[in-house]
Amino acid sequence: MQTAHSLNPHYFELCAQGTRRILEEGFTPARGGDISLRDPATNLVYVSAGLADIPFPCSSFSEVEAPDPAVFTLDGKQLCGDKLATIELPMHLAILRARPDVHCVLHTHAPWSTVFAMIGRELPRFPLEQEAWGPSFSVSTAGYAPAGAMEVGDFAVEALGDRPAVMLACHGAVAVGESMERAFANARLLEKQALTFAYEKLLTGGYENGLQNGPPNQHVSA
Ligand SMILES: [Zn+2]
Repeated sequence: MQTAHSLNPHYFELCAQGTRRILEEGFTPARGGDISLRDPATNLVYVSAGLADIPFPCSSFSEVEAPDPAVFTLDGKQLCGDKLATIELPMHLAILRARPDVHCVLHTHAPWSTVFAMIGRELPRFPLEQEAWGPSFSVSTAGYAPAGAMEVGDFAVEALGDRPAVMLACHGAVAVGESMERAFANARLLEKQALTFAYEKLLTGGYENGLQNGPPNQHVSA
């Protein structure tokens, strides 16, 4: 049974820092995005309340007070936090349950990866990044489900596999890692990858068969 003694103040602070960094590192224009961290000592999950309550527009992100994190068990029982967690809580928990090696799930609305989330295309392997990403490098777009739906997590887990990132159809991106620093590094690599590939497609005439209409609920290789 989890008790108040199981809660770790360090993870409250980390989660608040991570929420602020989503803004500070430009992974969202002002709203949208959230982060979760798993304490390996207890398996408890610290989840940001999301950025939906951030004033828009705001003149300085440094003046924004990060929402208080909430704490959950892996199966979704809330232990702490008087605010509702992000609506993407089921997706965070689904990924953490499926990936014991992952201790941080970072969801962003970063612009370049969202481009590929909108068109439902895969980002292929890029040889220059293999050292950082390892052999599993290409990044897929998960099947479409409305934000907050349970299916977002199911589709994200399926498309993520054992890789470091995935795009959420018509929505944004998710980067994961064994630590918060690794998850942010993976999110930055994903953005660089998406920007490079977008320009490569623009400068070389785009996709041979054009883009298909309709929601990108099916994986299409680039
Ligand atoms: Zn989102």
